[in-house]
Amino acid sequence: MKQIAIRKHYSYFMTNTSEIQKGVFDEKMERLDAEIAELLNKYDLKLISYAMRFIQLEKMSVSHCEKCENIMINRDKNPTGFSSGDATNFYADLDFVIYDGGTHEGKNLCMECLPTSHRWGYFS
Ligand SMILES: [Zn+2]
Repeated sequence: MKQIAIRKHYSYFMTNTSEIQKGVFDEKMERLDAEIAELLNKYDLKLISYAMRFIQLEKMSVSHCEKCENIMINRDKNPTGFSSGDATNFYADLDFVIYDGGTHEGKNLCMECLPTSHRWGYFS
């Protein structure tokens, strides 16, 4: 029985407005895309599509967890998270890689590192 296996890859890098405006970002992406296409081809993988989101860290209260380095959105500071209120949530697929989190004893902690008693703790 024939099957198709579709694999998602998530990656990120830090950038800033200046880098984006100077085109440094675009040049970096063009080089990356060329290398990725070459690499996928080596393993008989066909690139279907990719997408990129730019997230303003402070505005969205996104940071690294101060304990484990997971990327997290501090739901204490941004209770609605990425929800835009409509059915087409542009960020919906980022749930896999950007964890919910909150503030505990002055630290930004992801849901896995927060105590279970915290509202955004994993098992709460
Ligand atoms: Zn964590």
